[in-house]
Amino acid sequence: MEIACLDLEGVLIPEIWIAFAEKTGIEAFKKTTRDEPNYDILMNYRLDLLRKNNLGLNEIQSVIATLEPLDGAIEFVNWLRERFQVVILSDTFYEFANPLMKPLGYPTLLCHKLECAPDGSVMNYRLRQADPKRQSIVAFKSLYYRTIAAGDSYNDTTMLAEADAGILFHAPENVVKEFPQFPSVDTYEDLKLEFVRASKRIIVI
Ligand SMILES: [Mg+2]
Repeated sequence: MEIACLDLEGVLIPEIWIAFAEKTGIEAFKKTTRDEPNYDILMNYRLDLLRKNNLGLNEIQSVIATLEPLDGAIEFVNWLRERFQVVILSDTFYEFANPLMKPLGYPTLLCHKLECAPDGSVMNYRLRQADPKRQSIVAFKSLYYRTIAAGDSYNDTTMLAEADAGILFHAPENVVKEFPQFPSVDTYEDLKLEFVRASKRIIVI
């Protein structure tokens, strides 16, 4: 049996923090895992920025409410779910991702949780575990599933390396160059082909 593991932001939906930066006009929110590979440093930087600008969960959720899955993402997920068990492994938070899961048909999502005060201030964040994407792959492998994973950024690379097959999708040039061992594609059609290629089964496109 095979499980397809997908990153969320940058693969199926827009980068939430970049959208938030654009809506608020605060450029500093544009820093993502593409720029800062250490997630703890990045999240503490974001929480600090939220505090300094008096922004919280309500403001972030109102930006998320305006977002939609990337063009072609819904069709791609439907295609994939007909052929694989699909799990989304994300470094986002349930509080952010839930509204965007509806158009994607609520696939299984493993991600983190925020700790918010009643007024919406983001107090802290709770990571599900250390190196969660890779650990999920390790767990699926312990269940004797074969894993094929796709992601776009630094925080996906340990997942891609641990998986039986890893694919870069929509990855920036620096990530593609640093990880030449993974095939890199930019369209959902090519991503389908990579899943077909990585599968041990005969898959009909
Ligand atoms: Mg991503």
